[in-house]
Amino acid sequence: RKYVYTFSEGRADMKGLLGGKGANLAEMTNIGLPVPPGFTITTEACKEFYIAGRKFPAGMEEEVAEKVAWLEQTLGKKFGDPNGPLLVSVRSGAVISMPGMMDTVLNLGLNDQTVIGLAAGSGNPRWAYDCYRRFIQMFGNVVLGIEHHKFEAVLEEQKYKRNVQYDNQLTAEDWQEVIEKYKFIVRKETSQDFPQDPKEQLYKAIYAVFNSWENDRAIVYRRIHKIPDDLGTAVNVQAMVFGNMGDDCGTGVAFTRNPSTGEKVLYGEFLTNAQGEDVVAGIRTPRPIDRLQEEMPDVYQQFVRICTLLENHYKDMQDIEFTIERNKLWMLQTRNGKRTAQAAIRIAVEMVEEGIITKETAITRVDPAQLDQLLHRRIDPNAKLNVIAKGLPASPGSASGAVVFNADLAESLSQQGKKVILVGTETTPDDIHGMVAAQGILTSRGGMTSHAAVVARGMGKPCVCGCEAIKIDYENKQFFVGDIVVKDGDVISIDGSTGQVMLGEVPMIEPELSPEFQKLLQWADEIRTLGVRANADTPEDAAKAREFGAEGIGLTRTEHMFMAQDRLPIVQQMILATDPEERAEALAKLLPMQEGDFYGILKAMEGLPVCIRLLDPPLHEFLPNAEELAVEISRLKLMTDGDPAELKQKEDLLRKVRSLSEFNPMLGHRGCRLGITWPEVYAMQARAIFQATARLVKEGYQVEPEVEIPLVIDVKELAYLRKLVESVAEEVKEATGVNFHYTVGTMIEVPRAALLADEIATQAEFFSFGTNDLTQTTLGFSRDDAEGKFMQPYLEKKILADNPFIVLDRKGVGKLMQWTVENARRVKPDLLIGICGEHGGEPSSVEFCHLIGLNYVSCSPYRVPIARLAAAQAKV
Ligand code: PEP
Ligand code: MG
Repeated sequence: RKYVYTFSEGRADMKGLLGGKGANLAEMTNIGLPVPPGFTITTEACKEFYIAGRKFPAGMEEEVAEKVAWLEQTLGKKFGDPNGPLLVSVRSGAVISMPGMMDTVLNLGLNDQTVIGLAAGSGNPRWAYDCYRRFIQMFGNVVLGIEHHKFEAVLEEQKYKRNVQYDNQLTAEDWQEVIEKYKFIVRKETSQDFPQDPKEQLYKAIYAVFNSWENDRAIVYRRIHKIPDDLGTAVNVQAMVFGNMGDDCGTGVAFTRNPSTGEKVLYGEFLTNAQGEDVVAGIRTPRPIDRLQEEMPDVYQQFVRICTLLENHYKDMQDIEFTIERNKLWMLQTRNGKRTAQAAIRIAVEMVEEGIITKETAITRVDPAQLDQLLHRRIDPNAKLNVIAKGLPASPGSASGAVVFNADLAESLSQQGKKVILVGTETTPDDIHGMVAAQGILTSRGGMTSHAAVVARGMGKPCVCGCEAIKIDYENKQFFVGDIVVKDGDVISIDGSTGQVMLGEVPMIEPELSPEFQKLLQWADEIRTLGVRANADTPEDAAKAREFGAEGIGLTRTEHMFMAQDRLPIVQQMILATDPEERAEALAKLLPMQEGDFYGILKAMEGLPVCIRLLDPPLHEFLPNAEELAVEISRLKLMTDGDPAELKQKEDLLRKVRSLSEFNPMLGHRGCRLGITWPEVYAMQARAIFQATARLVKEGYQVEPEVEIPLVIDVKELAYLRKLVESVAEEVKEATGVNFHYTVGTMIEVPRAALLADEIATQAEFFSFGTNDLTQTTLGFSRDDAEGKFMQPYLEKKILADNPFIVLDRKGVGKLMQWTVENARRVKPDLLIGICGEHGGEPSSVEFCHLIGLNYVSCSPYRVPIARLAAAQAKV
């Protein structure tokens, strides 16, 4: 088995084996770009390393030694040779990029002897000793596990002693002093001398990179991004090139298009006289890439040409790392760049227009889940803002929340339901859990490609970074902007699209779809075969859904109409009625109200189908809480001047509430069971639907009501209720003299209904999967309790891959759905079948619905664009 490949032996499509970085270094080498030579140790080697209990697989070290010899020969340099030392970088390179999560060691090969040679050979001792101290520091941290700050303290002390502000103001002698102190730290912390043998350094570094696959932050990152734990990382060993030899050197990162907006401009940053880590670590705030044009025009021209070439080669926006050593450009990495949803859309659409990709490819370039970012509210442009500072607009979107300076605290406050903004000088990969928990991120240092910026964009979190106006005082948990003091817990707002930081909360407005977004969705509509409807309970929601492209309403929950302030007392009267007359009286009051509701929704959806579900929830949801009532009664009893009539009324009410209480309300008196026991309620609702329909038809509107019966378990229930609905329809037709069309169907929400789908289909014109209940009843997981109580351990222990209430459980619930579709369509080939549970707007579930041949998915209005795109992706 071959564990090591030189760059010229690899290709871009070998990502699985060589990792993303290794495969792309190989590809760049083979298309003739200036890449420092090197080799890649495969992910297979890493997997075997773990299988063997963290031991290198047999034969790997020999292969590495062979490639080192080849590298020495190619470059005419040798490991450990003071007259021409070979220096290499050792970097991780996972199959799916995990920026900053794993480890890197630079300048490997330096020791007490080679550094002297390097100093003499380059005529630049300051630089040589700087490299050596960086190496000890990185190796010490990454390989030997010594905390970073121990080294930083020495560095700060030296700068203080010399009275200088920046690292690059220190001299060769300063660095020599620092090196001695660093070596002392190593001896003290590890009881061993800093290793001098470059081969030993190399194997230890490779070991550490393999090891870093299992470090805490990498594990957390993989969990958040759903990256499998068994992919392993490759290791890239590459000849060093130096961006820190002087002012004709530098290093930088660039995107071929703006990753925040998608605009087609070269976008990036560089630092002169610096090494790679300085840019990403956010230690110094770098300068925009176009300044390179002024400083090194030839290098800039060459770089621009390479960027265009790479973008055309990969047919996607590239994220490129480069180094300039004495005016010579070297490419260190290219990969498809991470981008915001807004940028993803614009880049995909413009690349179609530029003839680089097809519409089908464009559809696949946008992650539907990411669209959420664009369908969120943003700051009202007309609002008066109390802007206190401005940083870099690193990741768009706006957020408000209480200031916190610590990732752990951000996490715990957010678990208590508080909204927080994580504020820091910069973020490190160790802050990842706090970033997940926060509404947004604000840093005082670091550029657009700093850790905070890259990670926030990946998460779709608003982020403002490099906001140098804010001075953080960690000690006292506060920050200053001029003479303004903002304390821990104070509310601020940030706008990641403009970089503004504001005091207090700010007014937000509803989202709109950009022209590019509309275009992409239009392409999606041309491609997809699965319909997309929305769940909406009000005319306003229906209108919003229509604006977002919904092709009908897949679920109107009528109970929400019963909850309205002015109606609840009437609904309670209906429920608590002791005789039929009293109930009839309450229903008569509700009828015109319901008719008004349906009139509004049907009108807003003119020309499109509207599925209206008859009353579904357990009755206790409409009644006062028994505990609260009991407290109220005790209070009344204690009052000397209490009203006895009121007390009696409350006591009666409590008795009734108690008599209606159920042990398992979700499995209790709800759904069509209400219709069976209290047919007059369903009759009232049917009448309201048909009277609204008749009115609209008379007014010249074309409307298509679908009357839906929930929670059916048997065809006889449906037959009984269907007859009821039909007889009401006949009465309304007769009374109004208007003829109208409607259909009757049911929800599939319990396994029995799914199993008996063929029988039930005989009484239905349509089915709609209520996958919230179908998940609840199939798994036997209470939908209201699972999440808070046991879902997390199930996910952490990987018993379930995903929360089944969010991502459809294809294996179990999905099997019932497939059975339903097959059996129902056998008896009724043209049966309309949709889904209206929460899964209808979740991309992977939408794909499944396409695969099993549903006619449509229905989701909340804001997720309609997501579903349109996901449905097209399922087809492509
Ligand atoms: C469902 O059960 O999936 C459904 C849509 O109905 P509800 O969520 O109202 O129970
Ligand atoms: Mg339901």
